[in-house]
Amino acid sequence: MELVFASNNKNKIKEIQLLLPNSITILSLEDIGCFEEIEENASTIEGNAILKANYVTTKYGHNCFADDSGLEVEILNGKPGVHSARYAGEQRNDADNMDKLLAKLEFVTNRKANFKTVIALNLDGKQTLFTGIIDGIITKEKIGTNGFGYDPLFKPNNCDITFGQFEIEEKARISHRGIAVKQLITYLNNL
Ligand code: IMP
Repeated sequence: MELVFASNNKNKIKEIQLLLPNSITILSLEDIGCFEEIEENASTIEGNAILKANYVTTKYGHNCFADDSGLEVEILNGKPGVHSARYAGEQRNDADNMDKLLAKLEFVTNRKANFKTVIALNLDGKQTLFTGIIDGIITKEKIGTNGFGYDPLFKPNNCDITFGQFEIEEKARISHRGIAVKQLITYLNNL
């Protein structure tokens, strides 16, 4: 069976392909001739994952899955959430985004937050969602240089270090994305 992953991120695609049975072949957007940028203008993380998966299925007729992720901060009512990538502006700059978040939380003691990934799978006319969440706190300063996005500011609960200090494999094992991908893979392996 062929399944499109609505992404052109070669690392993500390779990682997932390695975890799936040989009977499932993952195709990228390029592989199906989709070179246009798919708009991500839904108001929720779930909505964006669904929008991307539906775009591919509707326009190209393929079974497909798509993911969307974000950081949700409790005291900010879940912001930056779906706007995580461009929290500080269209330049989508990680340092600017982190600086904006640190400024918003400067005098705040409730620093609870979570990362969330939603994967939307369209398979043979049926849509299934998989959600991965990891809870933690936002630190008072950036710590560590690994990872991307808000990693240097996010300390998972029961951990002494931030995602910015995690090795990539270790982060993948416990992260929101890792949790959602594991659910997808279990589902596909049981078809
Ligand atoms: P995407 O949907 O995976 O592209 O994630 C959207 C945005 O959420 C990213 O550009 C980051 O700002 C933030 N984000 C998502 N996942 C992570 C993560 O694992 N670490 C840090 N930031 C993340």
